[in-house]
Amino acid sequence: MMIEGQAPLLDEGKLHAAETRLGKHEIDAIALTYVDNAGIVRVKAIPVERLDSALRNGVGMSPVFDAFIFNDAITQSRYSGGPMGDLRLFLDLDSLAPIPAMPGWAFGAVDRFEQSLTPHPNCSRGFLRRQLARLAEREIIPKMGFEIEWVISKGSDQHFVPATDGSAYGLGRIVDVADYSRALLLNLRNADLLVEQFHPEYAPGQFEVSLPATAPLAAVDRLILAKTIIRATGRTFGLTTSFAPVVEVNGVGNGGHVHLSATKANLPIFGGGAGPGKLTPAGAAAVATLLDWLPGLLAIGAPSPASYLRLVPSHWAGAFQCWGIENREAALRLVAESKLVNANNANLEVKCFDQSANPYLVAGALLAGLATSLDGGPPLPDPVGSDPVGLPNVIRLPQSLDESLAKLWTLKPLLDAMGPELTEAFTAVRKAELAHFESATPEQIVAQTRWVY
Ligand code: GLU
Ligand code: MG
Repeated sequence: MMIEGQAPLLDEGKLHAAETRLGKHEIDAIALTYVDNAGIVRVKAIPVERLDSALRNGVGMSPVFDAFIFNDAITQSRYSGGPMGDLRLFLDLDSLAPIPAMPGWAFGAVDRFEQSLTPHPNCSRGFLRRQLARLAEREIIPKMGFEIEWVISKGSDQHFVPATDGSAYGLGRIVDVADYSRALLLNLRNADLLVEQFHPEYAPGQFEVSLPATAPLAAVDRLILAKTIIRATGRTFGLTTSFAPVVEVNGVGNGGHVHLSATKANLPIFGGGAGPGKLTPAGAAAVATLLDWLPGLLAIGAPSPASYLRLVPSHWAGAFQCWGIENREAALRLVAESKLVNANNANLEVKCFDQSANPYLVAGALLAGLATSLDGGPPLPDPVGSDPVGLPNVIRLPQSLDESLAKLWTLKPLLDAMGPELTEAFTAVRKAELAHFESATPEQIVAQTRWVY
């Protein structure tokens, strides 16, 4: 529980549950993590004996990371940057879990507070919490599930050398890295991360796991834990992992697809209705609002200049501003209610996002769209029933960060939900990344971002 101006109260029940979860793992150190405006997971680690003190008093960390860009250069906004100030990081015990690929280590997500113990306005987890509270007031309970795509490289230098030459979706690829694949599934299971499926993806050396839908805060925390385990498992096999939007110019990239579902007064909104794709009126308003917002949302969900090298037609990345039922080229794909998908599991997949994004901001922004749609959305266009490439009425999404950033400024309800501090710090980071790559070639962008994410 959080009371404004007070440190989160230490919940003995949650502490006990977390200790039970960690029980069989011998934990020596805890990585306290959050994601910054550049999409980088930042950390303060504590030896396990400091847990009690960390829970009571928090752990200090500079707010300057709000102004960090992808390469650790520092920019500035009215509200961020510079050497002044300090924050307190408070571990959310619900997120505490072992990192099995890093024996002795546990993972925890933190909420960031000012020293006055009011929530830090730039805390992206806080932004997500606020959107959840807004929705709860209207009896909307959302869930999210994330798909994680990555490549593994056996190169020892900066180049990408796929760790397997096996075919896309080919068993040969798993045969090549069978021990790695098994260890990965085992490590994820040992962190209590349920994996819906694991498969070799399209691009060379590319794999994917899908995590099941759950409450958004936990879904994002688990996403970060899962990616940590994927990276660390690679390390133990001498492999380098990249979740970057693109690892090879013109190649198919790594997406960061998000599945969103929700109930309203306990009834699903994306299934069980009489609209197209069995959408309810609330579901149709949500799809229409998110579709309308997508060009601006891209600045949050596809926030790197590299993102736009991925977001191209015919790569299943969702480069068009349209929705479709089971259409993998549409930016919004409705996984509609059917004989095999019950109304509760019907969901909207946002395909155009990637993993250079801060997933707390992504989740918060999607939920801000959902909250806005409760007061009515624009009319829902017809679903697109084929590959949108070349269709006369289908618009391409922004093809540069410059363009999506300009659209973000038009989304007043989203900017209001983010608040001025977060908006300005976030957009300052985006602008600094744009300036950094102003005259860069695609090759240079890829080379500089490939191993960052
Ligand atoms: N790798 C594709 C992307 O960049 C997605 C492929 C798929 O549909 O899973 O989003
Ligand atoms: Mg995929």
